[in-house]
Amino acid sequence: MKVAKFGGSSLADGAQFKKVKSIVESDKSIGVVVPSAPGKRHGKDHKVTDLLYMCHQLASHGLNFDEVYTIIQDRFTGICSELETGIPIGEILSDIKTMIRDGASRDYCASRGEYINGLILADYLGIPFIDAAELIRFDTMGQLDENKTRSLIAEKLGGIEKVVVPGFYGSNEDGSIRTFSRGGSDVTGAIIADGVDAELYENWTDVSGFLMADPRVVKDPKPIKLVTYKELRELSYMGAPVLHEEAIFPVRRLGIPINIRNTNRPEDEGTLIVNDQWAERNEGSITGIAGKKDFTVISVEKTLMTAEQGFFRKLVSVFETNDITIEHMPSSIDSISVIVSDIGLNGKLKKVKDEIQIYCNPDNIVSYPSMALIAVVGRGMINTKGISAKVFTALSDGGVNIRMISQGSSELNIIIGVENNDFEKAIEAIYKAFE
Ligand code: ASP
Repeated sequence: MKVAKFGGSSLADGAQFKKVKSIVESDKSIGVVVPSAPGKRHGKDHKVTDLLYMCHQLASHGLNFDEVYTIIQDRFTGICSELETGIPIGEILSDIKTMIRDGASRDYCASRGEYINGLILADYLGIPFIDAAELIRFDTMGQLDENKTRSLIAEKLGGIEKVVVPGFYGSNEDGSIRTFSRGGSDVTGAIIADGVDAELYENWTDVSGFLMADPRVVKDPKPIKLVTYKELRELSYMGAPVLHEEAIFPVRRLGIPINIRNTNRPEDEGTLIVNDQWAERNEGSITGIAGKKDFTVISVEKTLMTAEQGFFRKLVSVFETNDITIEHMPSSIDSISVIVSDIGLNGKLKKVKDEIQIYCNPDNIVSYPSMALIAVVGRGMINTKGISAKVFTALSDGGVNIRMISQGSSELNIIIGVENNDFEKAIEAIYKAFE
């Protein structure tokens, strides 16, 4: 059985619902359909979830939210009349409005976009609707109760051929609604795929999968056909826009592949995300390039630092006690660089340097601001000679000065530090070398 999640842009209006219907009906193996709330139809449009959050905000301050709620009402009644569905949409919308006015929780309000979209979609597809609140359970700490959720899914979805389950939320033990973080319908789809032991988790959106590089930096980058969960983690950590982070873990446990597909171009294969064992090595090539700007490198030099017990611990404690997370720490015999994001550093550069001086007593501390990090990711690196040579030659031919290199022990990536100004140039040069 497959689980198919459709994002907000795939269900933004009646025409999009029609595309979803034809996708679901043309594939008998789709067993669970997970909808998001209606997303933007065009650049200036609003996501229904944002409107619902706003209604809650106004209502919780005792203010009138009619104007905003009318936009939501128009969106849903518009979809229903385009699709000629028979659900009592007016009544549903007015009941929810009363709940919001009477002080319903923020999570309850936000979840209603998925809830209503689920009701409409189930009716339009002519299949049952099962509320996510009956399947997805959170514990008293607000964490997903995996065991309970798995048994609820087995109990309620067992034997059902095709069903709609709204994304983005579940319920607490007392029955109240709790949402995941933003974009959380991806997570719902993954949890259900895990619960029904799906053969595939399809994630339908408005792009035909992931691209090898950011299209704002590289012109027409090639799509990625196959990527492993691990590679994807590396790419998303370095800023590539991918799935909701938490959406990977539930399916990864059972090794269920995820297929990113385009609702507007169902003929495209999209990107398949798989377990390591499933992926051929992709020798001689890379999977993708991603990167972020605005890091600071703090380089600490001390002769024989590696022979001094506790030196690294002291250095790391300075960052820890200042609540700064460390991104990378490449080192050599007598020096070590600590790389932190400028956001993480939060204006504490001088304080941190002073404290390193007191605590670690180094020979020298130098900081380099305005650095960018670029990750070249590829499972093929492990066994192929010459990939790094190709990367570095491309950078030198492109006139980019490399300020730092770090290769993860998994040999899945090479991280390169360059100046912010060289960021675009560097990504373009690397992409061209592997195109
Ligand atoms: N509708 C929710 C949001 O906008 C969840 C989702 O779309 O996945 O964040």
